[in-house]
Amino acid sequence: MWKKITNKMFREELDIQHRLLNLILSAAFVGGIFSLISTIVIGGLASAAATGVVLVIVLISLYLSVVRNRTTAAAILITGMANLLIFPLMYFSSGGMNSGMPIWFVLGLIFTWLTLKGRICYILYTIDLVAHIGCIMLGSYHPEWFTPVPDDFMQSDIIQSIVCVSAIIGIIFKYQTYVYEKQKRKIMKKDEELHIANDAKSQFLANMSHEIRTPINGIIGMNTMLLDELDDGNIEDVREYALNINSASQTLLSIINDILDISKIESGKMELIQVEYGIFSVLNDCYNMTISRAAEKGLVFEVNIDSNIPSVLFGDEIHIRQIINNLLSNAVKYTPSGKIALNIGEKSRNDGIVCLTFDVSDTGIGIKEEDIDKLFSNFTRLDEKKNRNIEGTGLGLALTESLVKLMGGEIRVRSEYGKGSVFTVELSQKIVNEEPVGNFYDKHTEFINQRKENAARIDIPDAKILVVDDVEMNVQVVKGMLKRTHAELDTAYSGRDCIEMTGKKRYDIILLDHMMPEMDGIETFEQMKARKNSPNDGTPVIVLTANAVVGAKEMYLEKGFTDYLSKPIRRDDLIEMLHRYLPKSLVKEYSSGGSDNAQRSGESASAAPPDKSESAEKTGLTERFPFLNTQVGLSYCMDDEDFYTEMLTAYLNGDKRQQLSETFETGDWNKYAAYVHALKSTSLNIGAEALSEHARALELAAKDSDTDFIAEHHRALLDEYSEMLEKLEKALAPRS
Ligand code: ADP
Repeated sequence: MWKKITNKMFREELDIQHRLLNLILSAAFVGGIFSLISTIVIGGLASAAATGVVLVIVLISLYLSVVRNRTTAAAILITGMANLLIFPLMYFSSGGMNSGMPIWFVLGLIFTWLTLKGRICYILYTIDLVAHIGCIMLGSYHPEWFTPVPDDFMQSDIIQSIVCVSAIIGIIFKYQTYVYEKQKRKIMKKDEELHIANDAKSQFLANMSHEIRTPINGIIGMNTMLLDELDDGNIEDVREYALNINSASQTLLSIINDILDISKIESGKMELIQVEYGIFSVLNDCYNMTISRAAEKGLVFEVNIDSNIPSVLFGDEIHIRQIINNLLSNAVKYTPSGKIALNIGEKSRNDGIVCLTFDVSDTGIGIKEEDIDKLFSNFTRLDEKKNRNIEGTGLGLALTESLVKLMGGEIRVRSEYGKGSVFTVELSQKIVNEEPVGNFYDKHTEFINQRKENAARIDIPDAKILVVDDVEMNVQVVKGMLKRTHAELDTAYSGRDCIEMTGKKRYDIILLDHMMPEMDGIETFEQMKARKNSPNDGTPVIVLTANAVVGAKEMYLEKGFTDYLSKPIRRDDLIEMLHRYLPKSLVKEYSSGGSDNAQRSGESASAAPPDKSESAEKTGLTERFPFLNTQVGLSYCMDDEDFYTEMLTAYLNGDKRQQLSETFETGDWNKYAAYVHALKSTSLNIGAEALSEHARALELAAKDSDTDFIAEHHRALLDEYSEMLEKLEKALAPRS
């Protein structure tokens, strides 16, 4: 209670004048109580009544100041009462100039300065001053007005007044100094915090600029080469460069998305979006995103799932994906060799809620014990020297931890420096369907087969599709992707065109871009919907968006779009959409080779790690190309052997030895880096892992302009590359 009252009266949000007023009023109140008691005891009824009136006025002022926050009114009341009523009365009753009263006049005037602001302060001060001077002058003209007091009273009154007034003024100054010092300390602490935050931000910006510069350099380098190759008409290389541009752009996008997410979490704007979802599809997507990255580094990647886990759950699916993907991506990044694994288990199940554990383990570089605490801080990267060649911004784990906490879960790390780490996330999810999820690899194989069938078989010559996008290149991409479907494709380059075209012709599906100048996709869609008797009533509209942020999907569905495709669009996703939303009557099945193909790909698509090499063994690829890791190569070709052989031929035809030698001779390290970069990824794509790794080392050296390293290793790389090309040529030659 006492603490509450003092907190209310002297809290830091109040300005100093308000706090001083409260201090003076409280002192007046306490003093008033004492003098009331003493006047009752020694002064008689009349003076007790007068003290009572004063006390009531003090109480009213306190109420106005503390409860109603009306400081000016309270200050006028208290200083007015003291200066215009009490002090003049006391002046005449206690001996005038020969008493301590002139000292109290000074205090009364100081109070006016201390408790009031602005014009009213000067006005009241003048009135008070005039009143005090008036008292002194009137007293000198009318000595008979003074109540007679004994001489020794005057002496003690002066002493008393000096003591009281100096103590009061002293306390006020002390209090003011105390408040000032406290505020100064606070500002200094804030300053220091700002300094630390600023340092972290600067470090982060430095990391970020570096991270962003790497893909941008890639994009610029690749584009230069693309332009060169376009002049030469070498389509296979163009494809390779385009893929690299794509991957650099994806990296940029993911950095930007992380920053957006972090800022959303920091501003408290990140919300959970709970939906029904299949746990398999989440894990399958995570698997697909990781397997090629793991294979690229020659790592084994395993998914082990407790087959009894309920198949359909309710929760924030998008963020769960993000959490698992972040951990898997780190596991790949920080593991030079060995194995990474994702294990999903069930910790407990009660009242329709299952507590799942997601373990991401790796046999990587591990984390020092003293660094574990720093792991989840924003923008923090560990072992910066050692990890300088590993891309990263230090945002992933901070974001992951925040997301886990947002979902009421827990995240833990166990790690042994130099041996590996295990990140464990525990999350509780509502159960929608108890049916067990089953074996992961069986389901994955089923999924691949289904997808292949879908992608391979769609033929829709009678389907009318409208693509709306203001960027010509995006329209061309969709056109290219749909070329083999034989669909009738119309294009619109603005919302207005779209509205005009959909008013005239019925489409079977509309692909509508969100971000367009003038009229954006949502506005276009709303205008289209609002129009009566449109030929496109009920036509599915898929929104195309680069707005891959969390919650975007729900927002679009809420607006009434049929579905959404995120950019950059993947062909398989687009075809899947067509399968899903086009009337079945429009979809013609390909008859040639259908079941055979499905059968064969079913065998080779098996992703079960224990018998990974089985498919390649069976079909004799390993035998034919013993110098390649055909398993890795196949994984880049959707496990399609014909496609793989095409890739090998393209690799052979895209011989880059001459360009490598030329750029080496001229010392054009930017171009050299781009060529070895291309060699690194093309080699990896076909399963030439060692060559790819050597090209990577030279790429890093070229980026750092480490000419000594390049001079030392260039010849060996060329020899290795030549040998690979020779072997390939022999193996690909028609066999008699
Ligand atoms: P980054 O973008 O740097 O990878 P993260 O926030 O994801 O940022 O990780 C922060 C740091 O934690 C990394 O820079 C790395 O030093 C360390 N780290 C994260 N995951 C692992 C892991 N699986 N093994 C070893 N170190 C890791």
